[in-house]
Amino acid sequence: MTGIPMQQAPTVYRRKLGDTVITLLNDGFEDYSFDIVHHITRPEAEHLLRAAGLPPIARMPVHAFLIQDGRHTTLVDSGDANCMGTGGYLLSALRVAGVAPAEIDTVLVTHAHTDHIGGLLAPDGARVFPRAEVVLHEEEFRFWSDDANFGPERQRMLPVRALALRVFEIYRSSLRTVTGGEVLPGIVLEPLPGHTPGHSGYRVTSKGESVLIWGDIVHLADIQIPRPEATLVFDVDAPLAEATRRRVLERAASENLLIAGMHLQFPGFLRIVRDDSSFALRPERWSPALD
Ligand SMILES: [Zn+2]
Repeated sequence: MTGIPMQQAPTVYRRKLGDTVITLLNDGFEDYSFDIVHHITRPEAEHLLRAAGLPPIARMPVHAFLIQDGRHTTLVDSGDANCMGTGGYLLSALRVAGVAPAEIDTVLVTHAHTDHIGGLLAPDGARVFPRAEVVLHEEEFRFWSDDANFGPERQRMLPVRALALRVFEIYRSSLRTVTGGEVLPGIVLEPLPGHTPGHSGYRVTSKGESVLIWGDIVHLADIQIPRPEATLVFDVDAPLAEATRRRVLERAASENLLIAGMHLQFPGFLRIVRDDSSFALRPERWSPALD
């Protein structure tokens, strides 16, 4: 074989939580211009990234998470199926994790943006997860389904909406909309609105241990955790997204809550601590063992 690799190898990371195993499945990444980040200057944003040892570019990893408790196999989000050009590796990662698409019982959706649900659709428009029930917040379903929400000011969101509607349609017979509470044994949906109206986190608890899979509470963690006021152009309601982010960061710091996130740096788990008047992140290190 000649040449050098041009992309990352399939990336997974397993972490034990009580009797359950949570597995990060990387789908790829997205690169943006800093124009998408508001309420922070570009030099400030670049400084925070450099200080964290990251390149000074708005690069977001995209992950989904697999939850296996021995009875039920659950996926949280699905990556983007390469709709954005640098993703679509979810199924390779799932294969590395030893799970076939037909083994997925439930897909829990944090919100209906393309990088979270695109992977539910095969290139021919069929279901990728033939047996899976798909769970999402009722408000998320309502928002994307209602024509009244997509007037001239939201033209930019129409392709995202079109994909969401295709996913809703293809999984229509197995779609379950909820407003909160326990959606599966040991898994509670927590409404975290703002980024989208029905944006939700999933809190997984097993044997007294807990993780909050918080979806898109941050897209660029090293910027938005110390500077929660930094909002994104993709936030449907930016002030509410900021308020929700502050509320979750406050709670995560007070409770020393383990966090997993769709756009966190590998291996995708961290804790939050207070830092002067703001917050700082304490990423968990990769562990070679499942204990
Ligand atoms: Zn996202």
